Amino acid sequence: MADTQPSGPNPAVADQFAGRRLIERGHSRFLEHTQNATGIDIGACYQCERCTNACPVARYMDIKPHQVIRYTQLGWREALMHSTTIWVCLSCEMCTTYCPNAVDVAGLINHLRNTAARLPIRPAEKELAQFHQIFLEELRRFGRVNELWLMATFNRRPAILKKKLKDGSLKEDLSLGFNLWRRGRLKLLPHRSRGIGEIRKLYRHRRGESD
Ligand code: SF4
Ligand code: SF4
Repeated sequence: MADTQPSGPNPAVADQFAGRRLIERGHSRFLEHTQNATGIDIGACYQCERCTNACPVARYMDIKPHQVIRYTQLGWREALMHSTTIWVCLSCEMCTTYCPNAVDVAGLINHLRNTAARLPIRPAEKELAQFHQIFLEELRRFGRVNELWLMATFNRRPAILKKKLKDGSLKEDLSLGFNLWRRGRLKLLPHRSRGIGEIRKLYRHRRGESD
């Protein structure tokens, strides 16, 4: 019977992307684990960089979106866990939309961020990491996020409050909040989502707890 397994990258493609070769699936344990956990075919990336070109905040990232894929392929987990990228990413999904190989770059970064949030490591962007934790906690409590409560909880942290008082950004936050409230764009009290049960179930599932 003829061998139908792919024998590796097409030499023409490999030449075209000299130094950017396709990575075989399961190249590293980290790659294999990440692919299994996310269902994302990370090995399909051929480093065309369209994701990075589409990203509105790539300039603020120490590891660019296409490099996140590459680092994952190579198993460079520590560098990713300590990167600014996982906290700077806005989850806007432009990268995923523009990928010609349907690689869910945004989904991968989200997965890496959630992994880092569970590890006892110092995040490269401490404030953004704290914001992320508060966001997730609010979502767990109410099933949706109330912007006013989110910002109030975030700004109440002593280090954040001190910094914002010093640089004047607290005043800007309050002014923005007031204007949004005046236009009816900000609700004063959080309302519980009807799907709260399902959301909490997802959280328990992620934590490995039984229902
Ligand atoms: S756009 Fe897709 S194929 Fe191109 S570098 Fe990004 S993830 Fe890889
Ligand atoms: S999801 Fe993140 S990495 Fe992708 S384009 Fe948006 S900000 Fe950039």
